Amino acid sequence: MSLLDIRSFAAGAWIAPDESARMIASAVTGEPMARAGAALPVQEMLDHARNVGGPALRKMTFHDRARMLKALAMDLGKHKDALYDLSFNTGATQSDHLIDIDGGIGTMFVFASKGRREMPDGHVYLDGEVEQLSRTGAFLGQHVCTPLQGVAVHINAFNFPVWGMLEKLAPTLLAGVPAIVKPATATCYVTELAVKIMLESGILPDGALQFVAGGVGDMLDRLTCQDVVSFTGSAATAQALRSNDNIMRNSVRFVAEQDSLNASILGPDAAPGTPEFDLFVKEVSREMTAKAGQKCTAIRRILVPQGREQAVIEALSARLAKTVIGDPRAESTRMGALVSAAQKADVLEKIKLIGAEAERVFGDPDAFEVRGADADKGAFLPPMLFHCADPDAAERVHDTEAFGPVSTVMGYRDMAHAVALANKGQGSLVASLITHDPAVAREVVLGAGAFHGRIYINDRDSMKESTGHGSPLPHMVHGGPGRAGGGEELGGVRGVMHYMQRTAIQGSPQMLSAIGGTWVPGAKEIEGPTHPFTRRFGALAIGETLYTAPRTITLDDIEHFAKFTGDTFYAHMDEDAAARNPFFPGRVAHGYLLLSFAAGMFVEPNEGPVLANTGLDGLRFMKPVQAGDSIKVRLTVKTKTKRNEEYGEVRWHVTLTNQNDELVAEYDLLTMNAF
Ligand code: NAP
Repeated sequence: MSLLDIRSFAAGAWIAPDESARMIASAVTGEPMARAGAALPVQEMLDHARNVGGPALRKMTFHDRARMLKALAMDLGKHKDALYDLSFNTGATQSDHLIDIDGGIGTMFVFASKGRREMPDGHVYLDGEVEQLSRTGAFLGQHVCTPLQGVAVHINAFNFPVWGMLEKLAPTLLAGVPAIVKPATATCYVTELAVKIMLESGILPDGALQFVAGGVGDMLDRLTCQDVVSFTGSAATAQALRSNDNIMRNSVRFVAEQDSLNASILGPDAAPGTPEFDLFVKEVSREMTAKAGQKCTAIRRILVPQGREQAVIEALSARLAKTVIGDPRAESTRMGALVSAAQKADVLEKIKLIGAEAERVFGDPDAFEVRGADADKGAFLPPMLFHCADPDAAERVHDTEAFGPVSTVMGYRDMAHAVALANKGQGSLVASLITHDPAVAREVVLGAGAFHGRIYINDRDSMKESTGHGSPLPHMVHGGPGRAGGGEELGGVRGVMHYMQRTAIQGSPQMLSAIGGTWVPGAKEIEGPTHPFTRRFGALAIGETLYTAPRTITLDDIEHFAKFTGDTFYAHMDEDAAARNPFFPGRVAHGYLLLSFAAGMFVEPNEGPVLANTGLDGLRFMKPVQAGDSIKVRLTVKTKTKRNEEYGEVRWHVTLTNQNDELVAEYDLLTMNAF
């Protein structure tokens, strides 16, 4: 294979490697296959992102950017085979590619969908409800989020050259912030291809994505309070980068995802012969061998009830013995190579430390079979299992991450001890628990929740559909305290917030309505020229309001509704019993009767642009209504969200008031309206 020149994409131009470039070897053959690294115009790159990419992205709405993510994901999906092909050189097998390449694309799809469903088709994201800051509501508060006006610098680890980029890029672009992506040099050739595909698709605006092959030069020294560094890698590198003077001086946001000594706990109920025991063995062996153990979420510590260590070691060893190690391109291969000879050497060093406190009970790095590849040239290792007899006295097994197929079994006395051992990792990305006992699950979450970013619980009921201990999901937060970096990524819209500033806005309802694009009670109500249900989505204005004539509620209405629906609850039927209830003065109308009447009062019955009533949010009944009272309805357009070219959702704020103008009920009504 001729040497690949891995280029950077800087300020709109591709830059080839120069004399400072580093050589990259194939993980499988050890042969040099690529080179990467060049002096880059760092300030120009930052300016290009800030002055070209940022403004273009910020012009788009959240929905525009979500659609852009979907288009990018679809385009990447068309080029998966080329990405797989290149990625075999990193030592990864086809099932590893499913995690990295398919997983990365899937993450982008989830952010695209969440952006459309959970964020507005506008430029301001509202965080939480309006806060009433004054007696009459003439002065209110609202938290809003707007995109940072700088650039996101993404520094990624070698193990997931595609997922590692896309899991950061998707929330960044959705926020409206341009990115400069710097993957680990060892696998940057796969990332380069993915970047090339995205740039050539023409989907991204100029300046939204730049790419660094090799080092970032003095980029971190040039960042400002509008920039973000999002780092994934080892704890040591994170510490060196986050203590950069400029980063500290300017309070540059620094999100860190580091390594961690993740634990998996076998519940006391999960004895050999139970489905949970078998499940545990399967999960642990999968986590040890997927990506040849080079996963930040891999299980490093295996916590089992004392007395059951031997059974676990035997079952795990039997399963690990079936792991075919070798050429990652071969279909029969279960575990490929580590990323490089250096990574293999690092793991061998680390197992010396672990070996001082634990005995190796499976896997010999000096004697194992490699199929279809040269064991001496490729960075191959076998899965290696250790047993630590005294985990309380041990230190290294709790703080040494051998970033390869390495894990240590240790026994616990009771659940408190299991929790204490899990927490001895001083903060992790994920802990798992295999138990069928909900009381055990609760105890572990209460005792260990504060130390772990994610707790994965699995048993016979969920195992068929469970997603696996090691898989960070775009819907759920990924990150952890302490050793794991103290960061948090993904988690749906939470992950987007790293790239936005939350600002507390205080002002009148009219101000808040204009800023958020959402009508706020107290803001101007507009009377439209015709009934709002007769007008199409685009013709409705925010704040447009319909007022109905009053309707008097009679005892007959209440009786009729009770008999018709079967709701003969005593508060509607029995004067004395209702009066004994602290909430009611006597017999009252059903809340649902009032809602139904309200619909009858505001509806426009003829066929028109309102296609369907899709729901009702935040319903509150505030004041009882009795026979003889009358109600009237106010219906106001609160927000409008385009769904597709044919229709959009209208959220109406509805209030019911009585003859004294007292609030009886309040809710948001959702309708789908034709364009
Ligand atoms: P690493 O050596 O810490 O490198 C991580 C990244 O930092 C690479 O892109 C590296 O670039 C870059 N880097 C190193 N020194 C730098 C500097 N002075 N300025 C700017 N960038 C610098 O980690 P790795 O070996 O790639 O990855 C393995 C580690 O990552 C493991 O410890 C693993 O647990 C952790 N990890 C964590 C997660 C997570 O989500 N928490 C995910 C995956 C991996 P070069 O390659 O060019 O040196």
